[in-house]
Amino acid sequence: MESIVVFCGSSVGNDPEIANCAYELGGIFAKEDITLVYGAAKIGVMGRLAQGALDHKGEVIGVIPDFLKLKEVFHTGLSKLIITENMHQRKLKMHELSDGIITLPGGYGTLEELFEMTTWAQLGLHQKPIGLLNINGFYDELLAMLRTMVNKGFLKQEYYDILLVDNSIDGLLDKMKNYQPLPLPIWIKKDQL
Ligand code: AMP
Repeated sequence: MESIVVFCGSSVGNDPEIANCAYELGGIFAKEDITLVYGAAKIGVMGRLAQGALDHKGEVIGVIPDFLKLKEVFHTGLSKLIITENMHQRKLKMHELSDGIITLPGGYGTLEELFEMTTWAQLGLHQKPIGLLNINGFYDELLAMLRTMVNKGFLKQEYYDILLVDNSIDGLLDKMKNYQPLPLPIWIKKDQL
């Protein structure tokens, strides 16, 4: 993987291990020459993540919609800042720039971004690995909800398995590197991805 988009909170939360882990992940990207693509904020878990990469001389691309840029909480030290007209364009741009996805703890925005990517994978619109870093069990209840969706017949097991989950960065990156995507549905051609 040459570039990974990371979705995470614009808040920092109250478990210091989460922000520390985001910073560490940024540093690992820099060392492994993986470009970080993210939402461009200097605040919250997002800010710690970017700082971890920048402090270790990593390449960081921030993608932010115009209206959020006006809040002046975007990071001014990024390798590249891309400004989009709206949130939809921002997510599409982040998707186009990355060949893997990682989600760290966050709120509504983070979950929305994660589930758009799982939904698109389920439809065969991309075949990128999608990782969930379950720091200190942050996502245990969400994973239990997904199990309920499988048990009640709303989510197929094979689509549940799209989501790669680990509580360590190394474990998650290993799973992502070894990910075997589902075969494409017959109505989607490889060159359309
Ligand atoms: P949440 O998980 O609700 O904190 O949302 C994370 C998402 O917050 C990001 O991807 C953005 O859509 C949005 N966001 C909120 N504030 C900012 C900010 N200052 N700069 C960039 N993105 C932000």
